[in-house]
Amino acid sequence: MILSFLFPPRCAVCRKLLPYGSKPELCDDCGRDLPRISDPRCQICGRPMDSEFAMPWCQTCSKGRPFEKCFVPFLYDRGVRRLISNMKYYGQPSKARFLAGEIAREMGGFRPDAITFVPQSSATDRVRGYNQTRLIAKELGRLLDVPVRPALRHSPGDRHQVGLSSSERRKNARGMYLPGKKRLSGTWLLVDDVTTTGSTLDVCCRLLKAMGCDRVYAATAAIRDGKKF
Ligand SMILES: [Zn+2]
Ligand SMILES: [Zn+2]
Repeated sequence: MILSFLFPPRCAVCRKLLPYGSKPELCDDCGRDLPRISDPRCQICGRPMDSEFAMPWCQTCSKGRPFEKCFVPFLYDRGVRRLISNMKYYGQPSKARFLAGEIAREMGGFRPDAITFVPQSSATDRVRGYNQTRLIAKELGRLLDVPVRPALRHSPGDRHQVGLSSSERRKNARGMYLPGKKRLSGTWLLVDDVTTTGSTLDVCCRLLKAMGCDRVYAATAAIRDGKKF
């Protein structure tokens, strides 16, 4: 009670003060403005699909993916875009809790043996002071009571994916991540903040499998609409 007096609840997107005891932590305006993904969507990567498409999975996934399924609640647009870019550049890590809760909801009752996250370069770590993807993973681990372990490494140097075409992204992502030294086993979940073409997820999940994971799932807070990148 005293804590909620000192730290009154605020909207996770716009920071507007909310009435005490508000759940979820969003104001009405932002709650309405969240681009939640609805069906039909690809049963593997979660990307929205045209209803005329006869298959239960998208073209990319029909060629095979290194993960069983990707859990994704939102499109990277409107309120979610604001939420994630605020987290990135203005250091508001508490927002990770909200996104983790939404991912957990997508997962239904599914619980992996361990959770890991896409590593970021040490240069980005230094600028932000934290890895927001790791924060989302940690909150998710706390919610599901599953251990969160670093497993992959970012290669030295900074290689950004922004502004690259989808084939360039794929090539770039291949050199960007390295396996960790530990041997892994069981079912793992890889967390990313935003996915665009999915090439980072593919590369990282392949590495996790090569490190010994029996099955790999992915989770990302938001997916960029195919037509918008
Ligand atoms: Zn709001
Ligand atoms: Zn798909």
